[in-house]
Amino acid sequence: MNCLECDATLSVPDDASVGEIISCPDCGADFEIAKKEGSNVELKQAESVGEDWGE
Ligand SMILES: [Zn+2]
Repeated sequence: MNCLECDATLSVPDDASVGEIISCPDCGADFEIAKKEGSNVELKQAESVGEDWGE
């Protein structure tokens, strides 16, 4: 799994579950586990404060 921001390798624990937040060790971006099927993990950008996401 790679960071969507900086492409650094993110380690997602085997027992991580949907909705958990993974932080990139490199750029500090937070990602939420959107989907998990076996070893196939899909991340989405976690909502962050201070950026305009149009909420
Ligand atoms: Zn990153």
